[in-house]
Amino acid sequence: MPEGDSVYRFAALLRGALEGRPVLAARSHGPGPSPRVERIVGATCTGVRSRGKNLVISFDNGLALRGHLRMYGAWHVYAPGEPWQLPERSMRLAIEVPGAVVVNFNAPEIELIEERALAVHRPLAALGPDLLDDSFDAEEALRRLRDPSRAGLTVGDAIMDQRALAGVGNIWKHETLFRCRVHPWRRVGELDDTTLMALILKAQELLRASTRRPLPGMPAARPTMYVYGRTGMPCRRCNTRLRSAPQGLDPRRTTWCPRCQPGDPR
Ligand SMILES: [Zn+2]
Repeated sequence: MPEGDSVYRFAALLRGALEGRPVLAARSHGPGPSPRVERIVGATCTGVRSRGKNLVISFDNGLALRGHLRMYGAWHVYAPGEPWQLPERSMRLAIEVPGAVVVNFNAPEIELIEERALAVHRPLAALGPDLLDDSFDAEEALRRLRDPSRAGLTVGDAIMDQRALAGVGNIWKHETLFRCRVHPWRRVGELDDTTLMALILKAQELLRASTRRPLPGMPAARPTMYVYGRTGMPCRRCNTRLRSAPQGLDPRRTTWCPRCQPGDPR
């Protein structure tokens, strides 16, 4: 699942291909509603940026494309005429500029909106501080985690709440909690400010370090995962067998080390 760090790297990849170039052709198809991308043909791309797990591509005619990849989406850049790595039917958006074709595959959310409406646009305006933003405000993230509406949430669910802090997905949730030795089922209201701030700063550190990796699908050594995807295996730190259970609204399971992350409150 693409998390904030992957979207950040996709933004850098797309910036290199699109920025300062005019759109020669654009097309889009569903399932679901498709943006009327013919409206960007002839416009020049003025920037590409990530906002949490959203990617925003801006054009000089006042329009912007917002994409959210959810579980399986990806952005690819090809040379003109180069064969695609995924089938045409998985394409949701293709933008052709001089020297490159940018293709989105499988993103369930792509929309074309007015750039000036972005500030009040619901999915973006509601986002908490972006962990990968240079001006990331950790105190504001803490304040949002401390909101009474989140006191009863498990910390595993709370740090993935994009309205509290933007960028953490399932992988970095696992790794942040393990590294801070916090059990995923502890309630936010039971944790002190020092612990919550340690989680925020650890998530930021992990995401930032991960932006230096190549993109998903590219050959690369992944950073060491301590718990993510390791259910039933021995803990890399203490050799205890890692456990997992379903958590929150997400149907996937959360894995933890019973010894390194003690105090199971369930
Ligand atoms: Zn352990």
